[in-house]
Amino acid sequence: MARFNRSDLREQILNLLEQTDSHPTAAWVHDQLREEFPKVAIGTVYRNLNILVSEGQIKNIRFDDATDHFDANTSRHYHFICEECGAIRDLEVPYDETLELKVSSQTGFEVHTHRLDFYGVCEQCRNNKADTREREYKSIH
Ligand code: ZN
Ligand code: MN
Repeated sequence: MARFNRSDLREQILNLLEQTDSHPTAAWVHDQLREEFPKVAIGTVYRNLNILVSEGQIKNIRFDDATDHFDANTSRHYHFICEECGAIRDLEVPYDETLELKVSSQTGFEVHTHRLDFYGVCEQCRNNKADTREREYKSIH
């Protein structure tokens, strides 16, 4: 039986990441590959993800769950994390380089980059909460 082609695998991993903005984990990527590459091990997926990171084609971002999340959006951008469902979303809020200038002028440190993560409840979870409240209200009135 033919072994899978390494470059095909890596290309497919990149495609998967380019088609989602959900900042998936290696386990998610591995799961998505099951049909096309049924024999591929999670370690191989990780290795290929790390190669893509080192090539600058994707980014590896850690959030509070201490798990690697992968992002094909390599531009500098901020994130919103839903405290209910854990969804990680890209924000359109422009990256603010003046923050870096403020920090370097206040401290004398050389600042290369910064991160801003916003926390709250995503639209879907807000709607779910509203539905639940409505049902609860109806059930007692
Ligand atoms: Zn949510
Ligand atoms: Mn992102």
